[in-house]
Amino acid sequence: MSDFKYLKLSFPEPDLAWLVLDDPHKSANILSRVVLEELNACLDQLVARGNVTGLVIASAKPGIFVAGADLREFVAQKSPTRETVIAIAAQGRELFMRLSKMPFVTVAAIDGMCVGGGAELAIWCDRRLVTNNPKAQFGFPEVKLGMFPGWGGTVRFPRVAGLGNAAELITSGESIDGRALALMGVATDCVAPEHLEAAARQLVREEQKSKAYLADRKRWAQPIEMSETELTFLGATAAAFIQQQTKGQYPAPVAALELLLAASSVEQDEAGRQESESFAELFGTPINRSLINVFFLTDRNKKDPGIAAKDIKPAAVKSMAVIGAGIMGSGITAASIKRDITVALTDSRPDSLANGARKALEEASYNKATKGPDVEKALKLAPLLRATTADEELAQADLVIEAIIEQPAAKQELYARLEPHLGPNTILASNTSAISIGQLAEGLKHPDRFVGIHFFNPVRQMPLVEIIRGPKTSDQTVATAVAYAKAVGKSPIVMNDGPGFLVNRLLLPYMNEALELVAEGVSLKAVDDAAKRFGMPMGPLVLYDVVGLDTALHAGHVMHQAFPDRVRESPILTALVKAGRLGQKTGRGLFKYDGKKPRAIDDPEVAALLAPHIKPGATMKDKQITERLFLPMVLEATRILAEKIVRDPRDVDLGLIFGIGFPPFKGGLLFWADTLGAAKVVEMLKPYESLGARYQPTPMLLELAKSGRRFYEEGPG
Ligand code: NAD
Repeated sequence: MSDFKYLKLSFPEPDLAWLVLDDPHKSANILSRVVLEELNACLDQLVARGNVTGLVIASAKPGIFVAGADLREFVAQKSPTRETVIAIAAQGRELFMRLSKMPFVTVAAIDGMCVGGGAELAIWCDRRLVTNNPKAQFGFPEVKLGMFPGWGGTVRFPRVAGLGNAAELITSGESIDGRALALMGVATDCVAPEHLEAAARQLVREEQKSKAYLADRKRWAQPIEMSETELTFLGATAAAFIQQQTKGQYPAPVAALELLLAASSVEQDEAGRQESESFAELFGTPINRSLINVFFLTDRNKKDPGIAAKDIKPAAVKSMAVIGAGIMGSGITAASIKRDITVALTDSRPDSLANGARKALEEASYNKATKGPDVEKALKLAPLLRATTADEELAQADLVIEAIIEQPAAKQELYARLEPHLGPNTILASNTSAISIGQLAEGLKHPDRFVGIHFFNPVRQMPLVEIIRGPKTSDQTVATAVAYAKAVGKSPIVMNDGPGFLVNRLLLPYMNEALELVAEGVSLKAVDDAAKRFGMPMGPLVLYDVVGLDTALHAGHVMHQAFPDRVRESPILTALVKAGRLGQKTGRGLFKYDGKKPRAIDDPEVAALLAPHIKPGATMKDKQITERLFLPMVLEATRILAEKIVRDPRDVDLGLIFGIGFPPFKGGLLFWADTLGAAKVVEMLKPYESLGARYQPTPMLLELAKSGRRFYEEGPG
């Protein structure tokens, strides 16, 4: 009877249907068009059978109920008409509404991730049971893709969970676990995975007896009962919270909230119609496409082993050594012990070692709820961390990461001392931010086992890790470094060696240009505000203060030597460093900082220091400032691609989003350039030609402009 490809239908008892979702081609169940069609055909069969009194929907995938709708089908719609979008939405919604009216009770048995379209399928069942499996996360992440649930999720979920709960989950896109789902009353119970099947059978029988589900069906078809005052209060508080979270740059949560409020006072069918109408406003917009691109970028990164060779498998990293217990070393240690990797930590200074070990343990045992270190967790993790000063002990690890001072001679001296003790497969890595990996590998006997593993500061917050190949680094070493970075919860991007590697090389033209604008007389505020309006988390000038002006001066010098035609060493930085203004760490930089939470305040002293280096009086429109800041970044990215520093334009985009917070709603730097088109970018560069090499279109950009091709040749995904 069941000739489905994606579903398995069985009857453990003559009147009880058991439907298992099981996509034979993927590790996750995805609700594609064909799966929805099969679901519909399955309902036909069950109705035709006549004697079914209960249906349980479950999944065969470990840790996953349904991971959502098929996003690739979404992006395949190039420029869908409003009618097409409404029809796509209606296909899912009508199917789920049909499910909710079946002549038998329906139960979703959830033992794994249940999000997006999957959460909608579950919510349109009469009842839900969930397990305490930590992977059983329930939520509607659509707003993170610039949409909201479009298959009736905004209709049904507030009716089942209450409008307040629905507004919170749908507008935030956050997920909750099984216990929370049961506490919310959305799941009837939260059970151990091994009891799920029995609990589902029992629930079906109970509902058949009590007929409680029929009363709920009636109630949920009606408008939501809520007073005008409650509605107004909910609307105002939720809107204020959303504004604070999104800074007005993400329209989907606002649209979702408006829809939820408006549709709460109408009947279910009308609410569904309103949902589709509103959904069509967001679907296919540039922000929606950009955010879906970011989803694909992260998905691609998760699956990328970092090398092309298929026969090389990463070695397991179970133990490691971290040398240098400063800011970075302690952060790397914390990230590693948190994931059960033992760490031997060392430092040339005993006080730094003691301090670094304590910080690492505090960070690894940090408890979000109490906002402090968790003693119990710390006691559990402490045996994984060993402070030592014996080279032999360090060298026995699977991986040794060096995070000592940024001086080539100090690093090379350390390697020469350590290498004779290293195990035959031990990988040696440097966390250097700027020194060439090839240069550091020069004196090594085994440069094939040497690699750059560049974490960003603060390690706990920054998802990006640059994995830098030296000229002799082996594929095996790269694959292991990539797997290690993923094991500690990071997103590694593999690249070839070169000044500034990837992110700092792209950041520099942008930051450099910010100072050039200041030198031309544009106010500090105007520069930073333009960058923030573009979507950057902070302006480039405040960023200087965060990085440290001395560090930036040094980096600028290195980049000037590498690219003298387009990077100038700014006299502004020199003047400020000379005056002892090093940025936030000294409380004074391009701005001044008072109080515990650093907030940039204009400082008249800065104006006096800058005066000799500034042509006064220039005013520039926001658009011009934005172009000045971001076009050199695009040009630098084309040079990086031409030099094959990275393997794919997508690496540039993900690197910038994760490394410097490039706005996800723009989809990535090159994705953004693609939305403009290369010809348009060339056009935009024209007014700045007189500024020299840094605004000259590169051969790659000109070629794309001529051929009409894009950086993302095959489109997103
Ligand atoms: P840090 O000054 O906080 O710590 C360096 C530690 O190394 C100090 O505790 C010092 O005592 C110790 N040390 C110095 N020489 C040593 C030696 N020969 N043997 C053992 N220990 C030694 O520095 P940091 O900010 O943690 O930077 C470490 C490395 O990471 C540098 O290469 C830096 O460029 C890189 N990095 C720094 C950042 C950042 O923002 N701080 C970001 C990415 C990468």
